[in-house]
Amino acid sequence: MKLVELVVASGKGGVGKSTISGSLAALLAKKGFKLVAADTDAEEPNLHIVLGIDRWDRVEEYYEGRIAYILQDKCTKCNICAEVCPFGAVEVIDGDYRINEYICEGCVTCSLACPAKAIRYRFGIVAGHIMFAEKTKYGFPLVSGELIPGRPNSGKLVTEVKNRAKAILGSKGVLLLDAAAGIGCQVISSLTGAQFALLVIEPTKASLSDLKRIHKLTKHFMIAPMLVINKYDINPEMIGKIEEYAKEENIPIVGKIPFDESVPNSINMGKLVVEAFPDSSASRELKRIADFIAEEVLSNWRAWYSKYRPKKHEPYIPVIIRPQRG
Ligand code: SF4
Ligand code: SF4
Repeated sequence: MKLVELVVASGKGGVGKSTISGSLAALLAKKGFKLVAADTDAEEPNLHIVLGIDRWDRVEEYYEGRIAYILQDKCTKCNICAEVCPFGAVEVIDGDYRINEYICEGCVTCSLACPAKAIRYRFGIVAGHIMFAEKTKYGFPLVSGELIPGRPNSGKLVTEVKNRAKAILGSKGVLLLDAAAGIGCQVISSLTGAQFALLVIEPTKASLSDLKRIHKLTKHFMIAPMLVINKYDINPEMIGKIEEYAKEENIPIVGKIPFDESVPNSINMGKLVVEAFPDSSASRELKRIADFIAEEVLSNWRAWYSKYRPKKHEPYIPVIIRPQRG
């Protein structure tokens, strides 16, 4: 099997995504799949907690490429940099042109356009860390990233985390990514290049609405989606609506995990539920999902991909939210 990327994602946080990611990684590795897990939620990484890791084997610093700044004594206040900056990073404060370092992506458009040659760059700013567990107790490596609060470019850090995980995995095997919640740049970086997305939902109206947004994003990247309904029995009225959407959109529902107290209890013990309570109802369903993914999806992934990949490309329009200066 060549390198296959499976992203566990959800439109909303707190739906049990990391518990499911960790359990699937452990179960697939136990079945003999060559697998590397990557935590690509660089703002709130927690897969290592779910996997019971309290010490990393290796930690590397992650540097941002460059951030622009303006030499005030050279600036003629012509406004060209503000006009050309694609990220809206140039601000006018008390009559001076300044670059918001939390927005600047270092793309050099402004310095190329500045007639006064007033723009310079700072290099080598530590923006986060990449952490490695060479072998978790479940037998596979984990790569995780953590952005320093306030630094931009979490999507670039996620790409770095993915690249490191791929380097460990090599050209064959399963790269299992535990993505951030939502549809932001971290999720976009996680989904880029993936074949499969396991979308996790809870049976609530809000979760279904968020599912539609993340599903739209997977369609943009031409990814074959699968659906897992977590705590499916807490709100039976919503199940019909979720099934209806899945049927309309050709999304296979590969699992329905019941509400089970053994899940939070296992997290408190620093263990996966499939290890701590292997006979619990949640563990039995997680094992069934892992069996299904192993036998139906991964064993003949090209056929599965061609059956469930989107039929047409979905356009995606990004929303840029500008942080305010403190
Ligand atoms: S383009 Fe250059 S000179 Fe013009 S406002 Fe920006 S920094 Fe100043
Ligand atoms: S380097 Fe790019 S992102 Fe940064 S201020 Fe200049 S144009 Fe904007």
